[in-house]
Amino acid sequence: MNETPGDIVEVYSAADLTEAYFLRDLLTNAGIEARVVGDTLTGMLPPGNETAPRVWVFSSDEPRARELLAEYERVHLRPHPDEDQPAESWLCPTCGEDVETDLDLCWNCQTPRKPY
Ligand SMILES: [Zn+2]
Repeated sequence: MNETPGDIVEVYSAADLTEAYFLRDLLTNAGIEARVVGDTLTGMLPPGNETAPRVWVFSSDEPRARELLAEYERVHLRPHPDEDQPAESWLCPTCGEDVETDLDLCWNCQTPRKPY
């Protein structure tokens, strides 16, 4: 199935215009022609439309653009460590053993768990 060379596809829904233009520049610097759609400054959105700005590229550039955007997300949008790694153990203050979160006493020396 052939695609029209001029087809554009949405590759990213940005949090705000700053991010949208940052990503457009990122793609442009990589040789990909990108445009921001949803720029309220240029009146491309109907009044009252809260839709986030989108980054669009030509469909022929889509795979490369998605690669770059995925890389961007890995670098800039890492999840918070607290949400990513729930505590699975606590360290016994007496014997230094790792104790499962479910246990309120150290399995090794029966020291009660203490809040830090
Ligand atoms: Zn212990």
